[in-house]
Amino acid sequence: MNVLVINCGSSSLKFQLINSDTEEVLAKGLCERIGIDGRLTYQPAGGEKEKTDLAMPTHEEAIQYVINALTNEKTGVVKSLDEIGAVGHRVVHGGEKFASSAIITEEMKKAVEECNELAPLHNPANLIGIAACEKLMPGTPMVGVFDTAFHQTMPQKAYMYGLPYEYYEKYKVRRYGFHGTSHSFVSKRAAEILGVPYDQTKTIVCHLGNGSSVSAVLNGKSVDTSMGLTPLEGLVMGTRSGDIDPAILEFIAKKENLDIDGLMDVVNKKSGVYGLSGNLSSDFRDLWDAADAGNEKAKVALEVFAYRVAKYVGAYVAAMNGVDNIVFTAGIGENDHGVRELVLGYLGYLGIEIDEEANNTRGQEIMISKPGSKVNVLVIPTNEELAIARETVALLK
Ligand code: AMP
Repeated sequence: MNVLVINCGSSSLKFQLINSDTEEVLAKGLCERIGIDGRLTYQPAGGEKEKTDLAMPTHEEAIQYVINALTNEKTGVVKSLDEIGAVGHRVVHGGEKFASSAIITEEMKKAVEECNELAPLHNPANLIGIAACEKLMPGTPMVGVFDTAFHQTMPQKAYMYGLPYEYYEKYKVRRYGFHGTSHSFVSKRAAEILGVPYDQTKTIVCHLGNGSSVSAVLNGKSVDTSMGLTPLEGLVMGTRSGDIDPAILEFIAKKENLDIDGLMDVVNKKSGVYGLSGNLSSDFRDLWDAADAGNEKAKVALEVFAYRVAKYVGAYVAAMNGVDNIVFTAGIGENDHGVRELVLGYLGYLGIEIDEEANNTRGQEIMISKPGSKVNVLVIPTNEELAIARETVALLK
């Protein structure tokens, strides 16, 4: 079956058409600047990438262009919509309502809408994408795959904040965690590579990208993760602060004369390694170049980032009473051997022995610990689109 995977943002929409039998990507692309002007990037497997400016006042036009591209006589990969058996939608927040993926129905959409205030930037956009697909592909089964679902197995002691209990009861203020599709995909893949039963192994996943999170996966279930009610908690990220003393907000508000929106803008968009490096960059390639050229702030940013990752790994070793596998994934985790080296430098006490030559590679599935190492350390490229396609097919079966 061909599955169209849709990842819809407020002004963008990423897509992949995946043959779920061969797991081959037939075509992929991106619609950008929806509601502004509009641009479609489209690439069929083995073909050239094409960029076309097209008016996209809403997501509906964007999806219509995606369908046109996929079925186009020259560069299309299917003859008609009939050859698309299902659509898998990424949905960011499923709150406590969704502990797994769900077939999209009126009731399901209502439940997603009720989670909107937990992810005001993402969920409404996800729902708009779903509505547009329903209109243009009536009768095609659709599934929602949630970023939060995998972490719904966290025990209460891991997901409660030290706040008045009534905030949890009244407003569902608790830790949810994100990147669940990725944490699930790579932790499963680690067990597969190592030939160990997924439900009998302790894995820590370091998903290090522009947004970053660490998770503790005990016997196939997430028992803790570093992101919380929102994707702001935890690690220092590209532009997000991660964990800070909450009292800093009041302190800076007074000093800089900022209101709550201004403060949230700072901690979401002007902090992280970007802010730490003196607004140099949120991209780790730029930070290493600057650090190598002697830029002290860039060095500090890299060190703070890696130290925070190592502290979370240590915490999750405690949470699981041990660890068998540590996996690095996402843009930084997959590509940045320097960051992996910095993080692993703190973890010698676990009996980890790193194979430097293996660590000096990038973007490939590889074991970077030596055979005698007490903990397996692996790099596993994440593939959220494939995970969504698999989930979609599994659910529809
Ligand atoms: P993601 O959010 O998973 O797409 O990750 C994006 C981030 O990965 C970028 O902002 C970079 O910081 C980082 N990244 C991508 N490629 C490399 C590379 N070759 N070396 C170091 N960092 C990289």
